[in-house]
Amino acid sequence: MTREATLIAGDGIGPEITEATLLVLDALGATFDWDEQYGGMSAVEKAGTPLPNATLDSIRRTKLALKGPLTTPVGGGYRSVNVALRQEFELYANDRPTKTIVPGGRYDKVDLVIIRENTEGLYVGLDHTFKVGDDPKAVAQAMSVMTREGCRRIVRFAFEYAKQHGRKKVTIVHKANILKATSGLFLETARMIAPEYAGAIAADDKIVDNAAMQLVIDPAQFDVIVTTNLFGDILSDEASGLVGGLGLAPGANIGTKAAIFEAVHGSAPDIAGRGIANPSAQMLAAAMMLDHLGELDAAARLRRAIETVIVKDNVRTRDLGGTAATAEFARTVARRV
Ligand code: NAD
Repeated sequence: MTREATLIAGDGIGPEITEATLLVLDALGATFDWDEQYGGMSAVEKAGTPLPNATLDSIRRTKLALKGPLTTPVGGGYRSVNVALRQEFELYANDRPTKTIVPGGRYDKVDLVIIRENTEGLYVGLDHTFKVGDDPKAVAQAMSVMTREGCRRIVRFAFEYAKQHGRKKVTIVHKANILKATSGLFLETARMIAPEYAGAIAADDKIVDNAAMQLVIDPAQFDVIVTTNLFGDILSDEASGLVGGLGLAPGANIGTKAAIFEAVHGSAPDIAGRGIANPSAQMLAAAMMLDHLGELDAAARLRRAIETVIVKDNVRTRDLGGTAATAEFARTVARRV
């Protein structure tokens, strides 16, 4: 069945990894009717704005998007289009799995999922500077906003996710010792919900700094982690580093109005345009999109093909110690599916 979906190739390495992903989806026989739209820097160049109305209209209609990374200027300039999309479509749950694919790395048995709250906390955009005397930026202030309902729905999402995916434990990660109101509300709400799953899903909690250290020392102790926006962003990049880096880390942004699938990584300006980026994360994001659509066999075939190419065929991009170009890796995966 052909399914309409929005396609945003994105900035930097985005077009390269998206082309590679479309090639393997084609080989898989997964047919999408893509509505190609723009966002980020490439949208500024084409339409004069980082988030054109046409892009929003398209996602409103299709409720489904595969998105490449979008560049956000650092320290100034326009606000993150990624954050804007998550807020516009209430994509409150960010599902970021980390699993060992490459053998012989630091850890052989990492298999954890970070469920990150995706719309609240420090990402609400209440970030200001204040003038004092002659200095226009003498004071900077950011506000974190958490709601009871926001905490409730992400924690419930994490426990339901654990139940549906045969997971055994949810670890609540917070900073409630210092951020007593915001992180405190998150922890308090999570502790109210956890007992509803007693006997089926175990629950514990950890302060984020300890959780970050424990992830490096003994990642196998983690199963599902549920946490707030900023902590989830940082911990998921950290987790990807345990299994070979950002080139292998996919993510899904799930909400009530739409779902957007993307790699965890950014536009990687340092390697953009050279044809050497690892497209696996974007391909694995496409596999999550197939799962979401109930195409479980196709998703499993795609994951198996990526694994076979990396492990058995030993065709790897440079970030994994190989020499394969993005296109060569994609052609090998396409043959394997
Ligand atoms: P980044 O994730 O783009 O890159 C970090 C490092 O990882 C770089 O050395 C890069 O070369 C490497 N890397 C990332 N993806 C790779 C891949 N597929 N294959 C091989 N190597 C890869 O992070 P950054 O440099 O901090 O950010 C660059 C831009 O991306 C910023 O504008 C940032 O705001 C944006 N960003 C966007 C998203 C998104 O669209 N969801 C996520 C994170 C960052």
